[in-house]
Amino acid sequence: MKINETFVSLQGEGHFTGTPAFFLRLSGCNLQCPFCDTQHQTFIEMSEDEIVQEASREKPRHIVITGGEPALQLTQSLVDKLHEAGFFIQVETNGTLPLPQGIDWVTCSPKSLTPALSKGEGVQTVDELKVLFMGDGTDPEEMVSPILGEGTGVRLFLQPLDTGDEMRNRIILRDTIAYILQHPKWSLSLQTHKMLGIK
Ligand code: SF4
Repeated sequence: MKINETFVSLQGEGHFTGTPAFFLRLSGCNLQCPFCDTQHQTFIEMSEDEIVQEASREKPRHIVITGGEPALQLTQSLVDKLHEAGFFIQVETNGTLPLPQGIDWVTCSPKSLTPALSKGEGVQTVDELKVLFMGDGTDPEEMVSPILGEGTGVRLFLQPLDTGDEMRNRIILRDTIAYILQHPKWSLSLQTHKMLGIK
């Protein structure tokens, strides 16, 4: 598998904020978001067994498989091996591609109303939707409705986009909070790892 990086840190965003975890960042993505700030193109090759061994050397038994887009590479056999090793598996996906069975927690961050999401061809089960609030007039509820359907129990997080411009970020944060107060099924997600200066 093409691995961009592995590290141990605290989950910075969404439902598991603050949870210690082993992060496995898989290389490559099927989208090219203009605001993408993830350096995920470089990689080293690791076998599934090497991944499980490396993760098992660390203390946390919560693994976050992220990218890029992990669904491009993630296999059922790696999911099964990680479960056998005692891991709780969280996957962060853009939702456009199907995932293996049995993942413990799927965090979906849809980046746009892509055809796959509209037709229901992407991820089938979602535990948490984490939507970037971009301040460009896009309504988050419209964006997630193809995935959410009639589903209940999915946690909804709205996360202000980091534009790299402090003034713009403040306006987006203000507008994100205003949106949540008007649409209270959403909760705020902040990139706490950036605030803390950790990975
Ligand atoms: S889906 Fe995520 S990793 Fe892929 S290009 Fe968009 S922001 Fe970057």
